[in-house]
Formats: sequence, C-alpha cells, structure tokens
Amino acid sequence: MLAEQTLTTLKGVGEKQLEKFHRLGLHTVQDLLFHLPLRYQDKTKLTPFSNLFVGQEALVEGEIISHHLTQSRNTSLLVKIIDTEGKILTCRFFHFHYRQAQQFKRGQMLRAYGEVRSGPTGLEMVHPTYQLFAADTTPELENTLTPIYPTTEGLGQPSLLKLMKQAVVLLKQYPLEEGIPPDLLKSMQLPGINQALLTLHQPQPDDDLFQIKQFEHPAQKRLILEELMTSQMSLLLMRQTEKKYAAPVFTLGTKSRSLLDNLPFELTQAQQRVLKEIQQDLAQPHPMQRLVQGDVGSGKTVIAALAALQAAEAGYQVAIMAPTEILAEQHRNHFIEWLIPLGINVAWLNGRMKAAEKRLMLSKMTSGEAQVIIGTHALFQESVEFNQLGLVIIDEQHRFGVHQRLALHAKGKSETDDSLATESHPHQLIMTATPIPRTLAMTAYGDLDLSVIDELPPGRKPIETAVLSNAKRLEVMEHLVAQCTQGVQAYWVCPLIEESELLHAQAAEVTAQQFKDNWPDLRVGLIHGRLKGEEKAAVMNAFQQHELDLLVATTVIEVGVNVPNSSLMIIENAERLGLAQLHQLRGRVGRGSKQSHCVLLYQPPLSETGKARLNIMRETNDGFRIAEEDLKLRGPGEILGTRQTGGIQFRIADLKRDQDWIATAKHLAENFLQSATKDQIETLQMRWHGYRLEYQRA
Ligand code: ADP
Ligand code: MG
Repeated sequence: MLAEQTLTTLKGVGEKQLEKFHRLGLHTVQDLLFHLPLRYQDKTKLTPFSNLFVGQEALVEGEIISHHLTQSRNTSLLVKIIDTEGKILTCRFFHFHYRQAQQFKRGQMLRAYGEVRSGPTGLEMVHPTYQLFAADTTPELENTLTPIYPTTEGLGQPSLLKLMKQAVVLLKQYPLEEGIPPDLLKSMQLPGINQALLTLHQPQPDDDLFQIKQFEHPAQKRLILEELMTSQMSLLLMRQTEKKYAAPVFTLGTKSRSLLDNLPFELTQAQQRVLKEIQQDLAQPHPMQRLVQGDVGSGKTVIAALAALQAAEAGYQVAIMAPTEILAEQHRNHFIEWLIPLGINVAWLNGRMKAAEKRLMLSKMTSGEAQVIIGTHALFQESVEFNQLGLVIIDEQHRFGVHQRLALHAKGKSETDDSLATESHPHQLIMTATPIPRTLAMTAYGDLDLSVIDELPPGRKPIETAVLSNAKRLEVMEHLVAQCTQGVQAYWVCPLIEESELLHAQAAEVTAQQFKDNWPDLRVGLIHGRLKGEEKAAVMNAFQQHELDLLVATTVIEVGVNVPNSSLMIIENAERLGLAQLHQLRGRVGRGSKQSHCVLLYQPPLSETGKARLNIMRETNDGFRIAEEDLKLRGPGEILGTRQTGGIQFRIADLKRDQDWIATAKHLAENFLQSATKDQIETLQMRWHGYRLEYQRA
C-alpha cells in the first residue's frame, strides 16, 4: 500500500517537487519512511548551565543580562544569559542583521539550542537556534526528540519534518508487512518493522538517545538486520537465477596435461585444489560463477590459462579482461607461450589499435577464428561480438566495477529470452588479489562461489620492508645503485595524490632524470600512463630481459606485473596510498627465490594513523591481515575501491560498523528464501533497494 503510494499524495508535494525527492532516491511514501534521520536533537528538556560540557548539544534557557558588539575587526554579537542557578552562558553570533541585534533586551528570556564550546570567558554557544520570550510565559518543550534528516538542495529540514509527520500518520493507519519472522524478532528482543520506524522518526523522551547515536538501539538493529538480510537475499537470488541458465559443458581434454607437463614448475597444492574446483564447474551444464582469491604472486595466471584451455579445446571462445594494458600485454605473452604450442589461437584487442588492425581482430572474434582473446575494458564495448563465447575471465576484478563485470557477462546471452533453461550463458571466472575480509566478501561478491589460493609457490622469502623518512631519499638512491651494480633489478614508484596522469608522469620523469644525471652507468627505464602502448611494451620487455637495472614508474605497475628477477622496490609518498594498494605494489617483488626488500618513503610529519598503517606494512606480508587492518583504519570503501562500493549502498547498514551482523543476515536470508512467496520477496526488495534495482536486473 504505502509501497505504491506516490509522494504527490502528501500535502505540500506537487509534480514539480518530485525531482528533488528523486535525487534522494525517494519515490513512494514507503521510500520516505525509510529515509532515516542522520541524528537527533534533544529539545525535550532544559540543561542547567552547570551540567553542560564542551562538545555537547543542548537546550538551555536563561535571562538576558547583557548584549553587546565586540570591537574586534570581525564584529560579533555577544548575548549573555543567566540561569536559575546563577550560572552564565554566552551566545555568540558572527553573522547577524542590525534588526536581529536589536531584538535582544535585558530581562528578556532566551531559549537556545546548539553545541557547547569553550570561549574566552567560559562556556559559549556559537550561532544557536533560539527563541525569545517574556519572563512571565513559558513556551512548551518538544515531547519527542527532533530528527535531523539528510537533505538536498531545495528540500530542507523543515519541509522534510512536516512530510515525515504525515507519512508517520499514514504508517499507523497502514502498517507495513513484517520482513523478519516474529518469533525470531522476539528471541533477539528486537521490535517489529512498524515500531522500529516509529521510534526512529519520533523517538520518545525516554528512548535512549545515546544508544541511538551509537546505532545500537534495538529499533536500528532491527532495520540494519533487515536491510542486510535483504541484500544477502538478493545476492542469493541472483546466483540461483544464474544457475538456472544453461551453459556449455566443457569436459576436460588432453591438452591440460600437456600444458602442465611443459611448465617449469609444479602447481602448488592450493593451485591444484582451485583448478579442480574450476574444472568441475566448467563441466556442469550451468554457468560457473567463481571468484578466485589469491594473494599477489600466488600464481593465478596459470590457473586462468588452464581454464581458458579447457573451454578452447571444447571449441568455445574465451575472453580475458585485464584492468591495464601493461597487464593485458603481459598476459598475452604468457598465453602465447603456453597455448600457441597446443594449437590454440590467441588474439588480443586494445584501445590503441589502428582501425584496420582492430577491424581484422574484431572479424576474427566474430568468425570464431580467435579462440582466446585478451584485452582491457575495450572487450566490453558495444561493437565487440563473439562467435561462441563460453568463458569470461576477469583478472584483478577489484579494479573494475560491478557493472563492467555484468556488461561483459551480458555479451554471451540473448537479452529478452525468458526460457532460462535453454538460454546459454558463458561461464565466469573472476580473479582478485585483493584479500577481502570474509564478511565484506559475502556482501560484495555474495553471488559468487569462492576459491582461495592460500599458498605461495615454494621458495619465496617474505619481503623485508623498511619505513624511512624522505630525508633519507638520497641515501636510499645510493643504496639502490650499489645493489643494481651487483645484479639486482629495482622499481622506484612515484605516486602522487593528484588524479592527473600528466603530473604523475612528470614526477616519474624527474626522478628518472635524477638517476641518469648522477649515475650515468645505471640503465634506467621509465614507464607511466602517458606512454603509447608500444612504448610501454618496449620498456617492460627491456626490464624483463634485464636490459634495464631500474624501472622508474607511476602506479601503472600496480597490478599484475611479473618480473621475477626484480627484488628491490622503493615507494615514495607511501603515506598517501591505501594499504591494499601498497600491498599490490610491493607484490611486484618477492616473485623469485631471491630475498626481496621494499622501502616505503614517507613525507614527515606522519599522523598517528599514518604511522600505524605503515607499521602494518612493515610487520606483515599477509594480504588478509593487511586488509583487516585497513578495514579497521579506513573502512570498506578503501578495500573494495570506490568503483566497487557503488553497487552496495545501504540506507542504514554500514559494512564496517555492522560487519558482525552479516553472517546472521546471510543465515536469515537463506531461511527466509526457503518458505518465502514471490510477493514477500518483492516486498522486501522494493522496501530496501527501491529504485536501485541493480540486484534484480543483474
Ligand atoms: P598472481 O597470482 O599475482 O597473478 P602470477 O600468476 O603472476 O601471480 O605468478 C607469479 C609468478 O609465480 C609467475 O612468475 C609464475 O610463473 C610463478 N608461478 C606460478 N605458479 C607457480 C608454482 N606453482 N611454482 C613456482 N612458480 C609459480
Ligand atoms: Mg595476476
């Protein structure tokens, strides 16, 4: 009922205003009810001045004993009031009209609400909201806490408050359907949905404001739980739906064995286990949806190649998508080396190809001649058509958004067909080196099966990391040169905070020049995002062949780059990078059997958190621990990447604050789905996802 009722049915909302509401994601009365307060003001009681403390927001009242303008350059208006205990408080205004200044009269009563600060002559309130009244009258106090809602331009607090009052009246008339089973609510001592909403929109004076502030009130917990449960449910549904589609069956051919026999190494136990999981998935008549998580250097590429081989041998095409051209190029080199001898046609597509070359590639993809196609996001452009796409592999998935993943996936299916069982979808293999704490993974990738390569190839020594002030930069350079003369290969990474490729490139250029000027014998290469594709490839190749001792780079080398002989990594301005990114960068060394070293240079002074973060990097090489710590210090956005979090916005839940609830929510969702009707499911989805239908459309 309220789920369908549009906002225009409320008094004061016309067609014209709708757009403002849409900006906040609000379409129906129900949406409005789920537009929850950010915080509350307590205007239900007066606080004596003697009980005030700095930082507190409070409602106070007193008699005006003086009002005057200060004589300083920025004139301010000071109004002093005295309370019944004889204590004094100053209200300070920096911006005011002459008329406003005239309003205040000695002997008048002033009631003010604001944040308490400490001023030159005692406690103050700066720009409180206030009300003046005569000494013989007493205005009434509010009888509920005052909610403060998220607003948008043209839609302010007062109008939202008024509308919310109407919506709450409607809610009492037409209660919402319960989402969580009542006996469960009872056992967890949580209120029903309607009670929870009432409490949050109109908290009563006896509700625990502190608890509400901490998001620990049962009414909030209840909503958080239902929202998380709904998101888990949608992910489960996405996955169930996908499993209903058909997919080509790839039984394991003989070429896998040949590839394994030709490798210069044996797969680790972990690689073998994960490979087996993938091989089994590919032999099913339904699409694989598997996420392979493996720390940097754990050997994911060869697993991708083996999966690709299985599909190609069965006569299907494979698309492999990498986030950068350097990485795509490197994959191409590996795949050419591994797959061409087995008679598989390896092709590649990049954004910088000449028109004719690109046309030729595209026609080979359409005809099916190209069997394994490697590329960047150019692969999911509209004009790309496959003949028979059977497997999609996405490397370093965290660099792509959810939407890009879904877009490439859509390449393999016809859009409108409803007969799931006959429509064929490609298998999906998604790889990431970002170790995601389990609870977060459940939410960001809840629609995928998970395989973890939790073992590094034998003989790797943990990278030793030092954290040094930028004051030591010259010494570090000298040390690096000395190492290089002994055959070590090194990276020097120059990240900048600005999102400008040009500035990044310049910083790297300056450093490279500095090395060349001071040490003419050192063979220095330079790589950054502004080089042409061929230039980048040439530099990478020279470094790979040890024709270069030092590679000065921007963060373009962050993911995937694999030159096992390099064993020294310097990262400048390390304090500006996220831990996950530092871990990725550092993972470019420690890939061979040599002891590797990493130096993190920082620009002092370092904040406490900054120190703590760099210390974590020094203490551990374990990507999972680093991610857990990063989650504690910076929150989920950092770990999933901003592009990723777009798909998982919540109304009230917060993945960091509420991570302990995710497992419960998943459990609830599984139980719920066992008996839920289609209507019940839709009710929850409309309630929580509303018009953000990514989940349902996926
Ligand atoms: P990542 O998981 O970071 O993508 P790569 O696939 O680039 O790692 O592998 C890192 C390096 O380890 C490569 O040089 C690769 O050839 C090598 N490698 C992979 N698996 C093994 C193994 N089982 N034994 C030894 N070396 C391996
Ligand atoms: Mg890789």
